[in-house]
Amino acid sequence: MAITTKRIEKNLQAIGENINSACARAGRDPREVRIVAVTKSVEIDVIKKLIDAGKGVLAENRMQQLVPRVKQIKDYLGRRKSPPAEAVEWHMIGHLQRNKVKAAIENSTLIHSVDSLRLAEEVNDRAAKLGVIANVLLQVNCSREPQKYGCAIGAAYHLGEMMDEMKNIQLCGLMTMGPMSGDPVGTRNAFTRLSELFQEMRNDKIGGEHFRELSMGMSGDYKIAVEEGATLVRIGSAIFE
Ligand SMILES: *Cc1c(COP(=O)(O)O)cnc(C)c1O
Repeated sequence: MAITTKRIEKNLQAIGENINSACARAGRDPREVRIVAVTKSVEIDVIKKLIDAGKGVLAENRMQQLVPRVKQIKDYLGRRKSPPAEAVEWHMIGHLQRNKVKAAIENSTLIHSVDSLRLAEEVNDRAAKLGVIANVLLQVNCSREPQKYGCAIGAAYHLGEMMDEMKNIQLCGLMTMGPMSGDPVGTRNAFTRLSELFQEMRNDKIGGEHFRELSMGMSGDYKIAVEEGATLVRIGSAIFE
């Protein structure tokens, strides 16, 4: 049977409670943490229920899926009175190919996955041509196991500095994926390392006042991520189970 709006609301509430508890353990204000709902594994009708359940920050990890969905949801909201179309924003969280950068800028309000100088330059060039400033996060590989994407942790500070110099990019923070193994010690280590780097860059004013997002944590590890300072948790399966 298809998932109901009620069920989605319940799951979102449970996740919210877990975030509150994690914040309490870490002495944080829960208002600092936003849930980014990852819709890659559900159908468009479920996304509509998610919006009915009050969720407005959505994300996809593939451009082939992001672009048509942004349009479908925009059309859907255009036919209804509430919520207004502006209540919904989309993030791009997956690996981004350079030939998809223009569409990523046009279809998202935040790109979490800029992980190389070449890609950052492409985003900057495309944003300049579109006459906009693209909000981006720098994706960092913080786990000791080899991962396909994310800039090496030792190179991240310098890459962040270079991105901060680019006129049509706004560097809004950092993103990482926990280790594939899901081992809690390795996961916490990865998140601690990113959090320390984030503090260091913020102290040095890289990205300026907009540098305030720490995107880490998914369904299996968001509680640890929140304890370690996440401001954006990217959650898919736990919302739709
Ligand atoms: C799929 C995905 C998520 C969400 O994963 P869940 O385990 O379903 O919560 C988060 N971040 C990225 C980059 C993803 O691709």
